[in-house]
Amino acid sequence: MTRRADLANDVAEVLLTEAEITARVQELGRRISEDYAGRELTLVSVLKGSLPFMADLMREIAIPVQIDLMEVSSYGGTATENTGLVRILKDLSSNIDGRDVLVVEDIIDTGLTLNYLMRYLRGKNPASLRICTLLDKPARRLVEIPVDYVGFTIPDRFVIGYGLDYGEIYRNLRFVGVLRPEVYADQG
Ligand code: 5GP
Repeated sequence: MTRRADLANDVAEVLLTEAEITARVQELGRRISEDYAGRELTLVSVLKGSLPFMADLMREIAIPVQIDLMEVSSYGGTATENTGLVRILKDLSSNIDGRDVLVVEDIIDTGLTLNYLMRYLRGKNPASLRICTLLDKPARRLVEIPVDYVGFTIPDRFVIGYGLDYGEIYRNLRFVGVLRPEVYADQG
């Protein structure tokens, strides 16, 4: 039988507190504002995991920006494994030709998703294309990805919260944490 998620009790450990995330997002926003001053910046958020990060980051950016949203999912695999095959569920709604594009991601793990996405976006002829990720998990990287802005480098653990899910749950937690092993075992 599938167990019912319990936000208050399923978390074993908090890796990044709300305060730590807020401070880091402010810092990233400041850097991006400086780096892109006077340019035509479009933030492209990759749903659903980067939704809270995008919402917070864009409000820490002090220059005019446009935003756009994409949604991708990997084919097959499980919640914790990536097959490397990517499907676009929602495409850009604006034209990024000639614009400076910054992709806003929740986490880079193997790098396969972003590798695909970067190739796809490059084909749309942006003036520049860079990456801002909240979390970087370099231990499991399979393809090299040049990442321009990283919030936090984390160890090889499956994390949830602040946009990140397990079985579509836990995205609304204000912190990034790790679930109790029983939760993964029960639902996995
Ligand atoms: P990659 O293609 O880099 O292996 O994986 C990228 C996607 O896998 C992320 O956008 C995210 O959806 C998922 N992912 C990778 N690591 C984690 C993790 O630790 N927690 C959660 N919730 N999702 C992850």
